[in-house]
Amino acid sequence: MSDDGRIPDVNESVRASSVPQHATDSSELITDTVQVQMKDSKDNFDKLYVDQEAPTIPKRRQELLKWNGWGYKDSKFIVNKAGQVEFTGDRYRLSKKVLPYLKDFMMRTCGVSLEHKIAAQPEITAADIPPPVKNKEFLTDLRRTGINYSDDCQDRLFRAHGHTLHEVFVLREGKFERIPDLVVWPSCHSDVVKIVELACQHKVMIIPFGGGTSVSGALECPASEKRVIISVDTSRMDMLLREYFVERMLC
Ligand SMILES: Cc1cc2nc3c(=O)[nH]c(=O)nc-3n(C[C@H](O)[C@H](O)[C@H](O)COP(=O)(O)OP(=O)(O)OC[C@H]3O[C@@H](n4cnc5c(N)ncnc54)[C@H](O)[C@@H]3O)c2cc1C
Repeated sequence: MSDDGRIPDVNESVRASSVPQHATDSSELITDTVQVQMKDSKDNFDKLYVDQEAPTIPKRRQELLKWNGWGYKDSKFIVNKAGQVEFTGDRYRLSKKVLPYLKDFMMRTCGVSLEHKIAAQPEITAADIPPPVKNKEFLTDLRRTGINYSDDCQDRLFRAHGHTLHEVFVLREGKFERIPDLVVWPSCHSDVVKIVELACQHKVMIIPFGGGTSVSGALECPASEKRVIISVDTSRMDMLLREYFVERMLC
């Protein structure tokens, strides 16, 4: 945070701390910045993660977000008692607002019928999902690192998909053949290094997980995979530390 309580722009903070005084030409400034970043990055990565505010997304994302749909649990369109469409919650300008013309528009233009109701399947329990593949040696070594992990069925299911229509349809009506066996939450660069090292050592598969909003099926587990699959949830790593101008990379 800057003195005025503002979160500083990454470029601004990196440049302020590392650009030599003599750098006046913009190409020189970029090159110098990259070099200093490269040199400092390893030492600073873990240090920079200390003293952060708590992440805004809880580890049990399903407590905040819909487990079988898009967005926050508390924000959705409903048809209220007066028969009009209303948006719930209080997160958005649209929240608690009635949209008097929406229902007619949806019925007339999109052919939506309010009579056609299909209840989604209830919240998933362990009995409904594939049991986790286990690798005792990997788990023992992972425990030693102190890195957070979970094999809870809902934690695993939440990271088994992105948000294609197909994936949401499977959540509401079907079943995934294969889902991650374990979710891990690294909180700093060195945690990620340890996870990758252990995964290589024990032949465990890794699928990184960011927002889980992929619309390309990239998060789906291959059904035939027999090895342990871990989902590496990056939500504890919620700061943008570096922008590498030359490589066009954000870290
Ligand atoms: C309603 C909706 C609107 C959207 N609108 C847009 C839009 O306007 N523009 C747009 O570009 N996209 C859009 N998308 C698509 C999606 O939001 C983007 O593709 C987004 O960038 C995915 O990021 P994510 O963190 O959710 O990735 P995830 O879905 O978590 O992961 C996507 C892929 O990246 C990998 N991955 C995740 N994190 C890492 C990491 N740290 N390191 C390495 N690999 C990683 C995953 O393993 C997976 O293969 C939209 C999606 C939805 C559902």
